[in-house]
Parts: sequence; C-alpha cells; structure tokens
Amino acid sequence: MMISFRSAIRALFMILGLASCSTAGDEVVEPTSCASNPLALQVLGSGGPIADDHRAGSSNIVWIDGKARVLIDAGPGSFVRFGEAGARFEDLTAILLTHFHGDHVGGLPGLLNAGSFSRRTDLLLIAGPDGSETFPSTSELLAAYVGSEGALRYLAPYLDGSADLPRLNVRNIVTSRDYLQAVWRLDGVDIDTVAVKHLEVPALAFVVRHKGKRLLFAGDQSFLSEGFVEATRNGQPDLMVMHNAISMADGQPRGLHRDGRSIGEAARAAGAKKLVLTHHMQRALDDRDAVMAAIRESYTGPVEFADDLSCFPVE
Ligand SMILES: [Zn+2]
Repeated sequence: MMISFRSAIRALFMILGLASCSTAGDEVVEPTSCASNPLALQVLGSGGPIADDHRAGSSNIVWIDGKARVLIDAGPGSFVRFGEAGARFEDLTAILLTHFHGDHVGGLPGLLNAGSFSRRTDLLLIAGPDGSETFPSTSELLAAYVGSEGALRYLAPYLDGSADLPRLNVRNIVTSRDYLQAVWRLDGVDIDTVAVKHLEVPALAFVVRHKGKRLLFAGDQSFLSEGFVEATRNGQPDLMVMHNAISMADGQPRGLHRDGRSIGEAARAAGAKKLVLTHHMQRALDDRDAVMAAIRESYTGPVEFADDLSCFPVE
C-alpha cells in the first residue's frame, strides 16, 4: 500500500509521542478579527534580535479578503503568532524574505515543517536576496534548511518534488540593482522589490499592492540609500513599515539600523500615509519620546508602534 509523505510524517510524530502534532493540520483555528478586513497588515512579530523585548522576531502578514496571502519575514516566534492570527499555510501566495539575519528567518523551518501538514498543493513562491561571499542566496538558504543535504532533509520534497509536498518556487532577487523590480503579478496581488543597504548584508524592501492600495516594507536599513529613495519617492504608501531599533542616545551604534531622524526622512520622502514601527529593540522602546521627536522633525503623519499581532486595516 502506498503511504503518503504527510502520512509518513504524522506516523513518525505519533511514534515519537508527539501525537498532538499529528492533528495540527486538521484543527480549525478561528482567524483573528484582522482577517475580516478586505486588506490589512498584521504584525506577527514586532521584536528585534534580542529576547529582552519579549516579542517574536520580525514577521508580517498581508491579509486580503480573509486570507493570509503574503508573509514578509519569518523571525523566531512568528510560527506561534502565525497560528494565533488564524493564518493558514495553504492560503499563502508568497513568502518574502528581506534578508538573512536570524531574527528575520529563524522561524522559517518551523513554518515549513507545519506546512507539511497542510492541504496545500499549489506552488509557493519564496523570494529573497541573492547571496554574497558572506551570506547565502535564497536558494542556498532553502537548501540548507530543507534541501536533500539540508538539516531538515526529510522535507526535501519541497524542493525536489519527490513526494506530495507543495513545491517551493524559490527566487533569488538581484540586490546589485537599485531600482524597483517586479516579483509577482497574479491574482490581484502585485509585489515589487528594491535593494536596500543593510551594511554588508544583501537586503530588500518590498512593496505589496492590491486594488490601488500600497504597503511598503522597508526592511532593515543602515542608511537612506539613493536607490530606495528614488524607487519609493512619493509612492504614497497607505502603510509604511519600518524598524525601531535605535535609541537617540549619544554613542548609540547605528551600523545596521536607522535612527528616528532617518526614519522620519524616509517616511516623508515616500509620502507615507501612515508609518508603522516594528522590529523594536528595548533600547529604542525605552527612548520612545526622543525617537518620536526625531521622527517628527520630518514626518507629520500618523505613527503607530506595533505589538505582536497588531492589526492595521487599510481603508
Ligand atoms: Zn538585519
């Protein structure tokens, strides 16, 4: 008798005494109210790389017509928030990865493991940066996680199609270009990307569009690069999502992230209708008033500080 790949994995978990895992794909999880908006951003993980902020690592969902269609980053802990939000792996159109620091991709293996229990059959796009000498490309990252010689090689069918897992369509985005590149055009969802400067880390910002609305995920940025400014200038995103990792204190390390002043300048240049701050680090949260004052030097629009599972409907 043929036994399916999913059945084999479930049986393995049963044997290992992890029976509760075996039913995960069959349980009905009620979506949070965020899903009821025609278009909304939900922040799954609003934290930074250090656990002292008590938040999951960077991760966001774009809800469209009740479905979690686009996942942007999958930091540690986002796997739990994904379930709490009521998101379903089978509804995803794309997983977009801004860069390969652990606080942005540490939750991806858990999500892919969970996806092996889903009923998904469609191809799933995973798009992220190309590599460098010191960082992997997106396809190399996926191979390291779930390739035939990867750490979780029992999930290799995601890449080689040898069993009944949904295939991953893995795309390496060229980060040496400093203009807007199209990533996806289908089913009412348009996704574009532009490279950003995050020290030596190949890194991307993403623009997700639906029915004339626009969400801009700026990713992690060391400074306001010309390419990013030009690509997003006066794009008037309904929501612009940026990191809040730096306090305004003297001597603050500013190598990997931008401070409030720079965030305000970016939001003003883009003409953002609303600025959502996430990727909080405790040092920045402790200096919230000064961060806000620095943003206000340039940007006068609404500013929201996201928590895990915060929902931002796009009207
Ligand atoms: Zn980073």
